[in-house]
Amino acid sequence: MSETYLVVIPTDPMAGLPDNAQAVLKRLACMAGTDEARIKDYGKLQFIDCGEAFEGINCPKCAVTFEIATWHAWMDQDWHGEEGFHLHSHAMPCCRTKLTLNDLVYKGPQGFSRWFISAKTNNRGALTNSELEKLGAKAGIPLRAIIQQY
Ligand SMILES: [Zn+2]
Repeated sequence: MSETYLVVIPTDPMAGLPDNAQAVLKRLACMAGTDEARIKDYGKLQFIDCGEAFEGINCPKCAVTFEIATWHAWMDQDWHGEEGFHLHSHAMPCCRTKLTLNDLVYKGPQGFSRWFISAKTNNRGALTNSELEKLGAKAGIPLRAIIQQY
């Protein structure tokens, strides 16, 4: 049995943990129908993945499927050890558009952030756009929703 978590990260990867993160946590836990929720603040940029929900990556500009080998190479280039990730600008192999790894279209959604808020869930699917907007309003910044399966 895999476990599913509803996760939110800021749309802006450099955004710090909001002052009212606890209120966001409570709201997310309520939406997920759980007491098992947590806030993780890394203090540096990390990759927040979707686990087994991962299917692939597309270029946001031309929708061409992104080669996983290229993605791994860029992940290595962008990783700065103790400092976490630096989001460098890379020219897409498909259309030469200059983008960061955070700009790619991940299925399911993934992203880069200095922190995340997550809640375990057994009995529901992804956050709706309206729920995500409500959480973003509480946080005071726009959020990206990720479903993690492990
Ligand atoms: Zn492209």
